[in-house]
Amino acid sequence: MTAAQLLRRDGRHPVLIERAADDSHPGYMLALMPMVDQALEELGVREQYRENSVPLSRYAAHSHTGHMRREDSMSSIFDQYGDYRGIGRGELIEVLTTDDCAVTFDSAVTTLMDTASGVVATLAVGDQTHELEFDLVVVADGIHSATRAVVLGARPVEIVDTEWGGWVVWAPEDAESDLGEELWGAGFFLGTYPVKGSIGVFLGGPSADTRGGAAPFIDRVRRSLKESSPRIESALRAVADDPDPYYWPLTDCRSPRWAFLRTALLGDAAAGFLPTAGIGAGMAMESAWVLTRMLRGAAPAAIPAVLAAYEQAQRPRVESAQSNSRALAGAIFRRSRILAVLRDLAIRMVSVTFALKPIQNLLANSPNPEPAVAEAERGR
Ligand SMILES: Cc1cc2nc3c(=O)[nH]c(=O)nc-3n(C[C@H](O)[C@H](O)[C@H](O)COP(=O)(O)OP(=O)(O)OC[C@H]3O[C@@H](n4cnc5c(N)ncnc54)[C@H](O)[C@@H]3O)c2cc1C
Repeated sequence: MTAAQLLRRDGRHPVLIERAADDSHPGYMLALMPMVDQALEELGVREQYRENSVPLSRYAAHSHTGHMRREDSMSSIFDQYGDYRGIGRGELIEVLTTDDCAVTFDSAVTTLMDTASGVVATLAVGDQTHELEFDLVVVADGIHSATRAVVLGARPVEIVDTEWGGWVVWAPEDAESDLGEELWGAGFFLGTYPVKGSIGVFLGGPSADTRGGAAPFIDRVRRSLKESSPRIESALRAVADDPDPYYWPLTDCRSPRWAFLRTALLGDAAAGFLPTAGIGAGMAMESAWVLTRMLRGAAPAAIPAVLAAYEQAQRPRVESAQSNSRALAGAIFRRSRILAVLRDLAIRMVSVTFALKPIQNLLANSPNPEPAVAEAERGR
């Protein structure tokens, strides 16, 4: 949606194909890092974004038994680069579509065929099929992308499966709307992330343990806690009370290639993240900005070169952020009580700044699409 809106602002006419029947999905919480600011600024919706989100200025880490170990300032890490804010996915979509946004719901791409001048896409829209030719196709249909297979063929996608998963629900807001909290347990994880008017909750553990359902899992978590807090209680209650909580299996994906002549992968379809660094949407929106900035002014004949330059510029950045999420997952998603105790000690000594160092490096070296833009303009 970010890419489509940026392309529209550049005078292009993208067709946005969406599998969902409508936009009624209740969504989930997103903590967005400053790499999204550039795209929001160019879309002219930065103020709407601020109005519909909350600043995430503090982060608290709890020990595996529930004791609050430390609280760190996120403002001191991120303020120098821009905003770090919590927003619901639905609210983000509203912000992105402030200027309206045509979406073709209930539709999917079933085949893509390169021609001399473009790509012919077969679109299944409801129970009808259409063939349309485009200058460019951007595949951005998420971590379980079906369209990716249409371009990748037999080439495998690299997947890390943590064999953990958990429930994502909403809890009522509390007075600390700027505080994200995490509890890294021995065999469970509880995260609470405020957005405007609510708190997003994730409660997870090894898939084998969550298979029995939320209620017995919550009982086990309660037995592990020596200390609790109103926030922890409210989060556990929200999972327990939800009749049909969304279950999120914690896997990621990394496509071996992003650019295929006039078709490019973007966002989770290119590299889908484990949630540990909370950066998947941030990198997806950054890549959307880089791609569309490179496409600005490019003639149709230059598109294959632009897409190759986009992959070259953005894939290493995104994959390094993804590797950081994978490394954090290795530390967090553990059953062992001994490891949990050692981790608690480490948390006491090391601030979240350390864990986020690779992300700070990315923010300090923001992407520069200009050389590729100049190249594309020379090729016009
Ligand atoms: C519970 C949860 C919490 C998260 N928290 C954070 C966070 O705090 N910070 C952060 O940066 N990231 C977070 N993420 C990751 C973030 O949501 C993703 O990285 C981001 O949404 C990727 O955007 P995308 O547009 O590539 O894919 P998606 O947001 O998944 O969008 C893909 C779209 O394509 C549609 N679609 C799927 N298949 C097809 C098809 N075949 N044809 C047409 N349309 C299709 C889907 O309906 C969907 O609308 C979180 C993810 C989850 C699930």
